[in-house]
Amino acid sequence: MHFEEENRTITINGDSVAPGQNKLLRIEIARLPTGTLIDIPVHVFNAKKKGPTVLLQAGLHGDEINGVETLRRMLENGDLSISKGAVIVVPILNVFGFIHFSRDVPDGKDVNRSFPGTKTGSLASRIAYHYTQEILPQIDFGLDLHTGGGQRHNFPQMRYTEGDEMSLKLAMLFNAPFAFASNLISGSFRKAAHKLGKPIAVYEAGESMRFDESAIEIGIKGVKNVLFGLGMLLDKPEQIPSISLEYRKWLRAPRAGMFIPEIKNGKRMKKGQLLGMVTDTYAKKHKKIKAPFDGHIICINHQAVVNQGDALFHVGR
Ligand SMILES: [Zn+2]
Repeated sequence: MHFEEENRTITINGDSVAPGQNKLLRIEIARLPTGTLIDIPVHVFNAKKKGPTVLLQAGLHGDEINGVETLRRMLENGDLSISKGAVIVVPILNVFGFIHFSRDVPDGKDVNRSFPGTKTGSLASRIAYHYTQEILPQIDFGLDLHTGGGQRHNFPQMRYTEGDEMSLKLAMLFNAPFAFASNLISGSFRKAAHKLGKPIAVYEAGESMRFDESAIEIGIKGVKNVLFGLGMLLDKPEQIPSISLEYRKWLRAPRAGMFIPEIKNGKRMKKGQLLGMVTDTYAKKHKKIKAPFDGHIICINHQAVVNQGDALFHVGR
């Protein structure tokens, strides 16, 4: 007689989610000056059948709301009825930043530079610490959903860790329009997770404080692609063509002034093609920005007034 091995129980903050259960839990972080308790909502879907535990996380930067909406829609649409393993969903990691429309916590620190954190450190460091203690030990690997910082608009793209086969696999399964390896930044969630042997792939799409419908839709498809590829969802999602980039470069403002892009994000560019201009405000001078090679535009800065050296286009081939 064959018995299928049962899935494990997930325990977060003292709350248990047994195989076959779905629960909304909370990790208590800190209080506002008014005494209001701030906690991080954590949705846990635990299937009966054994399988991997996958983290789906957004809002590590509080103003990067496309990921928050991507996960909210998936929860609302019942997209996470998995057949095996478990999914831990954290739609808003940095609750403080989210309610302040900010990337950071109120003291200006970036939670994504504060991992693994300490119990008695700054607020960002404490959030990172609680998260490292409560969530990371429970997962096998995960997806971290972001957008461009500031007013930079990222065309939907996946980033994985060089030499980490599983993070590459997650990025390939996700199948966003672009994918490439990017360095582990000190203090980042991805680096802290990597050190604990938990591969993370990062989805970057759209810009902060703006909903981008295509970023959200590709995000939903991508998460479903990953869960399907891992055998956790049974219906095959629709596929989008994906391009792997081996080389990337930022094109920066040659002068200060007003930035006028002449190409749309995600488009193919030909070497020497005019991509945009930075003009003065007197209609006297302008500097052209030209494509340095045949390739693709993967990010455009939507800031209209720029300083010399500002990152304007992220391009790759
Ligand atoms: Zn971010």
